Amino acid sequence: MAVLYKSTRGGVKGLGFSDAVLMGLASDGGLIIPEKIPLVDLDRLKGLSYEQLAEEIFSLFIDDIDREDLRLIVQRSYSTFDDKRIVPVVKKDGVFIAELFHGPTFAFKDIALQFLGNLFEYILTKRATYINVLGATSGDTGSAAIYGLRGKENINIFILHPYKKVSPIQELQMTTVQDSNVFNIAIKGTFDDCQAIVKSIFNDLAFKEKFHLAAVNSINWARVLAQIVYYFYAYFQSSVNRLYFSVPTGNFGNIFAGFVAKKMGLPVDKLILATNSNDILYRFINFGDYSISDVKKTYSPSMDIQIASNFERYLYYLFGEDSSTTKSKMEQFAKNKKLQFNRDELEAVREDFVSFRCSEDDTLKTIKRFYDETGYIIDPHTAAGVYAAWQAGFDDVICLATAHPAKFPDAIRLATGREPDEPEAIAELKGKEKRLEVLDNDVELVKDFIAKKLG
Ligand SMILES: *Cc1c(COP(=O)(O)O)cnc(C)c1O
Repeated sequence: MAVLYKSTRGGVKGLGFSDAVLMGLASDGGLIIPEKIPLVDLDRLKGLSYEQLAEEIFSLFIDDIDREDLRLIVQRSYSTFDDKRIVPVVKKDGVFIAELFHGPTFAFKDIALQFLGNLFEYILTKRATYINVLGATSGDTGSAAIYGLRGKENINIFILHPYKKVSPIQELQMTTVQDSNVFNIAIKGTFDDCQAIVKSIFNDLAFKEKFHLAAVNSINWARVLAQIVYYFYAYFQSSVNRLYFSVPTGNFGNIFAGFVAKKMGLPVDKLILATNSNDILYRFINFGDYSISDVKKTYSPSMDIQIASNFERYLYYLFGEDSSTTKSKMEQFAKNKKLQFNRDELEAVREDFVSFRCSEDDTLKTIKRFYDETGYIIDPHTAAGVYAAWQAGFDDVICLATAHPAKFPDAIRLATGREPDEPEAIAELKGKEKRLEVLDNDVELVKDFIAKKLG
């Protein structure tokens, strides 16, 4: 039976995998999901390497790429990781730490974006076409996207970041990449200004079509797909009696992959959703209150979100796979900036999730306590997850470690009084030449720059 994709809002159906990947956001404004979630035979997956497991799981969701080609895409995607296990799982005291940060930018987004880059290149080359990726970043996503797409055929990437307002390591990671298809644009303004420029350019449909502009944001189905793999892998590495994952959450992409893994037959008891002070998802799970509040700046910036862009995928399942309910609820949310849930719905949510909120103070305290007890340094995002695992009180929780502590030296220093060990690849960035174009906060200047580079 063919593997097909559709939109959560019902306006798109019957897409093949490659078309789904190229579409990104569904053309009816919804998010793309598989028409059916496949079930797995766990015994068949046991004992596989990370790459073998990825290939097996991907093959259940992809039927328009030859198996041999898929194997090469997977191999290429994870050959850039600095540990051959790809996602090492280590036991520390009462928890397991699944290290998702062994990719080229030392954060978990590499797991999806290394795959997406190779996948895009493969599909575009096959179809003899090209794209120019445009995006804005406050730091992490931009560097992972640049490392995912650098040097790829038929793709250029333009990333806007707020000039001098990303961390020094993030700036180095983005701007020291020398590949000729990578363009860093530093805007004299804020991250919101960068986002507004990107949005305005995408809204200029003539410009967008002329230059084949595309996005690589966290709603692309291929990113969710890549993230399903490590839930299975960590399960096989840990041999626990009851299976709990604690997930530092921002846009609900990572934890949604865990939800899909459970639907595929992974025996997950509960997914523990950890937030920082930006707690919209914590309020949803505990009180049924999904309402926007102001974004607060925290030690864990990749979780500083207002609206979780992947959340609609989960709502679709919560509303009994009913796309008309999903569509009307999302329209209601766009209008009122809030959604309210009833008791039955909340009971269903709590079958799968518990949630805890980690304050700024608790973030530092958790880093310190974990270091004092184990000698192992966790980054501020991972700390929110470890804190939530402790609050939940379950045994042997698998905590997803989403970034290397060396990316957040200030928080580590505050918490522990010492510097995190720096991987060689980060140390080496410091002497390298930077390539970036600094522009005033003006859409037209950015358009001119893009047109000139592509003209
Ligand atoms: C992006 C990111 C997160 C949040 O992941 P979501 O998929 O948005 O929930 C957590 N930690 C780090 C380090 C990240 O880069």
